[in-house]
Amino acid sequence: MGNITLTMVKPDAFSKNYTGKIIDMFLQAGFKIKAMKKMHLTKQQAQQFYLVHKDRPFYDELTDFMSSGPIVAAILEKENAVADFRKLIGATNPAEAEEGTIRKLYAESIQNNAVHGSDSDENARIEAGFFFSELERI
Ligand code: ADP
Ligand code: MG
Repeated sequence: MGNITLTMVKPDAFSKNYTGKIIDMFLQAGFKIKAMKKMHLTKQQAQQFYLVHKDRPFYDELTDFMSSGPIVAAILEKENAVADFRKLIGATNPAEAEEGTIRKLYAESIQNNAVHGSDSDENARIEAGFFFSELERI
């Protein structure tokens, strides 16, 4: 299992000032911050990040949302990072997320669901490369 995952604190959580609480949950769960930055994605950048979902009905609305305000992107490091992180964040739909998960605590809706987490080691590497250069992740 790979040892990195890529996360974003999404615009809903950022605008409600949950960023600190959410990052603390990453740390308390044993993830180390390998790289981190705050930025405001353009619509085009959001479309690029979510290109795998381009044929889904929610793609346009999702990329509007993801470019609607600042995010915090980070590469997190831990053994079995992808699976352990998805457990920490909970189900995509907060109504289905387990108690104590980040999405259960902080998400608004299936779209405005507070955080992103990579779904595979391969996508973690691709997504980490989308946000961070080699120099930024030493
Ligand atoms: P996850 O982020 O849990 O891996 P997906 O990769 O399936 O979920 O979807 C990417 C993102 O698209 C979700 O985190 C959420 O913001 C949004 N999304 C997923 N499904 C829906 C839906 N049915 N309606 C609106 N937005 C959705
Ligand atoms: Mg996904």
